[in-house]
Amino acid sequence: MLKSFIDVDATSHFPIQNLPYGIFRPLTGGKPRIGVAIGDYVLDLSELEAAGLLQETGFNKNGVFDQPSLNMFMALGKEVWQKIRQKLQELLSEDEPTLRDNQTLRSAALRKQNEVELLLPSQIGDYTDFYASKEHATNVGTMFRGKENALMPNWTHLPVGYHGRSSSVVISGTDVYRPKGQMKPPDQATPIFGPSKQLDIELEMGWFIGQGNERGKPISIDDAEEHIFGLVLVNDWSARDIQAWEYQPLGPFLSKSFATSISPWVVPLEALEPFRIDGPKQDPTPLPYLQKDGPSSFDIHLEVYLKGKEMEQSQKIITTNFSYLYWSMAQQISHHTVAGCNLRPGDLHASGTISGSKKEQRGCLLELTWRGKEPIDLHNGEQRIWLDDEDVITITGWCQGDGYRIGFGEVTGKILPAVH
Ligand code: CA
Repeated sequence: MLKSFIDVDATSHFPIQNLPYGIFRPLTGGKPRIGVAIGDYVLDLSELEAAGLLQETGFNKNGVFDQPSLNMFMALGKEVWQKIRQKLQELLSEDEPTLRDNQTLRSAALRKQNEVELLLPSQIGDYTDFYASKEHATNVGTMFRGKENALMPNWTHLPVGYHGRSSSVVISGTDVYRPKGQMKPPDQATPIFGPSKQLDIELEMGWFIGQGNERGKPISIDDAEEHIFGLVLVNDWSARDIQAWEYQPLGPFLSKSFATSISPWVVPLEALEPFRIDGPKQDPTPLPYLQKDGPSSFDIHLEVYLKGKEMEQSQKIITTNFSYLYWSMAQQISHHTVAGCNLRPGDLHASGTISGSKKEQRGCLLELTWRGKEPIDLHNGEQRIWLDDEDVITITGWCQGDGYRIGFGEVTGKILPAVH
């Protein structure tokens, strides 16, 4: 097994097999730049680049890692990502002296993760949110429209999605203000205005687009994965009472555009290859442009924790898996572009809430509590149906290998009272 000269615990999310990319800034100052996570450290790629160590890969764009976002690197495409990843694994491996034995370079290029601030990985031009979990769509449809109309007729034929809001995508650790808006309680004839009383989370995963496509030239299903740079954890905060009143006929608007939190480390798709598995069987068979042979999902274990302000410790409230998603990432990308829409480097796509068939696998509070009928019991005797002010939600996830983990770190966020 590949090992680094840097000590990495077996439960660490960031062994040499992972090497996720992120944007960081030293707490002591300096400009944002690109790094990869290795154990408890960040390896500063702008320092390696300046030292000439990333040149021999046939990659001659100077300054691509001395950037405040990953967009330029993302645009270079899969072959370049593979070469850089290979080079980084070589430089970090236990028997390679170039970096290991160069104390000056080591102290310049390796920083403790707790001594840096992590920033948004890319400048996100567009954010698209899908609705790819059949269990989630069925549960929500049942609650909003009744069992007979749970899944709309289109759902099993195409990956339903909508255009989200990129300006309010925030990095893990950013506080979220409780949104205000219009709601219409069922017992009232006219809508009211105020802070949402049904604030929820959505456990999702997102992927960043690497190379894009020209407008009018769709990405075929067979090429779709070549356009995925890497994956992050997503919490797509949602106000259910605002959503229920506003969502017809054009879908969610203000109920989901106030904040979407993402984890800072972008895990390369290549790091996930050992964990590739089949997704659910699709019935009916999708149209040809959505058909692809071979496994197209990944075995990624996901957990969600809640910590209220009165709680000493956080409590796990959801355990689920990325592979439960009905529509694959490749299908979502192919469908997104089939009418001619162009994707651009740094765009973010999210899967939609990831739910499974069991109760603890439901990926949001709406489903977990069945719209309030089954409150969650917390360790300290409190109950939750929706989020309270000061609640902290943390999502984490990883692929479990033999003696190592390919982890995503975490995405966390705290709810602050509505702004008056
Ligand atoms: Ca969502």
